[in-house]
Amino acid sequence: PACIGVDLGGTKIAAARVEPNGYLTSRVRMETRAREGPERVLERISEAIRNVMAGGEVDGIGVASPGPLDARTGTILSPPNLPGWDRVPLKAELEQKFGVPVRVENDANAAAWGEYLWGAGMNSDPLVYITVSTGIGSGLVVNDRLLRGADTFAGELGQMVLEPSRAQGGHLRDGTLEGLASGTAIDALAAEAAGPGSRIWKLAEADGERPRAEHVFAALKEGDPDAEAIVEKVIHYLAVGVANAIHFLNPRRIVIGGGVAKAGDRLFTPLRERVEEWLMPSFVGTYDILPSALGDDAGILGAAALWEEGKK
Ligand code: ADP
Repeated sequence: PACIGVDLGGTKIAAARVEPNGYLTSRVRMETRAREGPERVLERISEAIRNVMAGGEVDGIGVASPGPLDARTGTILSPPNLPGWDRVPLKAELEQKFGVPVRVENDANAAAWGEYLWGAGMNSDPLVYITVSTGIGSGLVVNDRLLRGADTFAGELGQMVLEPSRAQGGHLRDGTLEGLASGTAIDALAAEAAGPGSRIWKLAEADGERPRAEHVFAALKEGDPDAEAIVEKVIHYLAVGVANAIHFLNPRRIVIGGGVAKAGDRLFTPLRERVEEWLMPSFVGTYDILPSALGDDAGILGAAALWEEGKK
């Protein structure tokens, strides 16, 4: 029968029943209220699961969670966007509560797995999945399995050091791919470049918001030079990351998701061109760079299907 997929995020919890064919039913969504701490958040996760479980028997529960986490034991270590969490044994707690097998996986890994089974990465092995959102996360599928590494921490392309003179280890730090090209980095560049009267500023003001990545891409459409400079910089760093990943893994596809990927062709067309400029000739034409097909559902779908690894 079906499995339950849970997507635990810093702001929302989503859960759904996922049928064996990837069909997603009886979905629930609620706020995480992460500031209330692990116990209250665990209660809400359980509530979400109980809600979708009411639809009938399930074989298991998969949870996509912010990392770092230990996917073998299903222990959440101390994610930057889950304050107060420190070695929370999520798998053990949920197994005890619901009496079915539970798997816990890093959210970017789960999304990579979802895209590989049912999305833009279908039949593409190896697959590189990159999410460009608040930070930059990634997941790698190799030989029909997620590549997890010795401690299940593998695949952190967002931590790739691109500007060593400015780099420090850690979440969203300077000099790393995510420090230079995540949504947060673009938001910061937007705020820096957009003086009152600039196009980016006006678009943000019309939305009643501070300048963000979305306003940069909207201003780009109108040929705004500030937006062109920002997007040029971001594409430069994303292309370095993608070209390095291609040389490293010789993937069949690179799928890019997350909020920033919603910018569409204005991002993907120049990114494809730039990546190709940096490749060894033998790699040219061996891969595709595509936007995510599952969007926000990738994590839920992938988490619910973790038992499918290595079955092909
Ligand atoms: P989260 O990290 O919470 O999952 P998202 O994946 O939505 O959030 O990523 C948020 C980032 O994506 C923000 O920096 C936001 O400005 C950016 N973003 C959202 N929509 C778009 C869009 N249409 N074009 C470009 N950037 C976008």
